[in-house]
Amino acid sequence: VAAYDAVEDEQLEERPPVITIMGHVDHGKTSLLDKIRSAKVADKEAGGITQHVGAYQVEKDGKKITFVDTPGHEAFTEMRSRGAQATDIVIIVVAADDGVMPQTKEAISHTKAADVPMIIAVNKMDKPAANPDNVKAQLAEMGITPIDWGGEYEFVPVSAHTGMGIDDLLETILLQAEVMELEADPTRKAKAVVVESSLEKGFGPVANVIIKNGTLRVGDNAIVGKTFGRIKAIKLDDGTNVKEIGPSTPAAIVGLNEVPGAGETLIVTDSEKEARELAEKRAEYEREKQLSKSTK
Ligand code: GDP
Repeated sequence: VAAYDAVEDEQLEERPPVITIMGHVDHGKTSLLDKIRSAKVADKEAGGITQHVGAYQVEKDGKKITFVDTPGHEAFTEMRSRGAQATDIVIIVVAADDGVMPQTKEAISHTKAADVPMIIAVNKMDKPAANPDNVKAQLAEMGITPIDWGGEYEFVPVSAHTGMGIDDLLETILLQAEVMELEADPTRKAKAVVVESSLEKGFGPVANVIIKNGTLRVGDNAIVGKTFGRIKAIKLDDGTNVKEIGPSTPAAIVGLNEVPGAGETLIVTDSEKEARELAEKRAEYEREKQLSKSTK
C-alpha cells in the first residue's frame, strides 16, 4: 500500500482539524457539541433541514473546524482498533463542579495511547460550585499540567449553557491545528474514514464519512472493507447535495452495495472492476481465515 500511496508531485494544502470530544458521562459533551453547532453553523440551516452525517463543520475567523458528533470513547477506540484515526485533536470535557472522574481518566488514557494532542475544556463554569483550580490540580497530578502552571496543556473554561468560553475554545483548537500543520492533497483520489453507517429507506446503505485525503466525487468507484460501489450522492450536514468534497469534510454518501463498518477506510479505485475485484479478494480472505479458525 505504501508504494501505491507514494506520489511524486504532491499538492499539499492546509486542511481543517477533525475534533472528537470525550469525557465523563454528564460532564456536558453533548451540550457542548450542540452549543458550538448552534452558535457557529451558517444561517442556511435556519430552515431546519439537516442531515445527520456523524460530524459537522463550523467556521471561526474564516477557518473551518470539523467536529465528530458521536461523543464518547467507544467510537474513538473502535476506529483506532481498525487502524483508522479520524481525529486530529481530542477535547477532554471536565465538569468544573465534579472534577476528574473515572471516565475522564479513561478518555485521557485512550487519547494518550493514540498519541493525539488534547485540550481540556473545563465546563459548567456557570455553576456556583464550579472549581476550575481543583480540576487543574487533579489533572496536574496526572501529568496533565496547565500551560499557566508551567505545563503544556491548554485548559479552557467554558459553559455549554451560557456559551461562555466557546470562542476561546475554537481559537485554541485553531492554534493547536496551526502548530500541527495539517495538510492534505485535494488533487488525489479520495481516502475517507467511515464514522457511522446505516441502512436507510429509499437510499440503501448510507455511510457517514470524513475525507482524510483527496477529493471524493459523485461517480467515483470506491471500496470500503468488503463493500464497494459507485458513489451516487454526497450529502452535507445542512442537507444539500454536492458533486464533490475535499479533505476533512464530513458527508453522508450513497451508492455502496452493503453497509460498511464504522472505522473502516474508504478508498477510491480506478474502475468499478477494480473495486469489485478488491472487495471479492477481501471477502475470500475473510472466508479462508474463518475456515482455518474453525478447522483448528
Ligand atoms: P454528556 O453525558 O457528557 O453528553 O453530558 P450532557 O451534555 O448530556 O449534559 C449533562 C447534564 O449537564 C445536562 O443536564 C446538561 O443540561 C448539563 N450541562 C451541560 N453543560 C452544562 C453547563 O455548561 N452548565 C450547566 N449548568 N449545566 C450543564
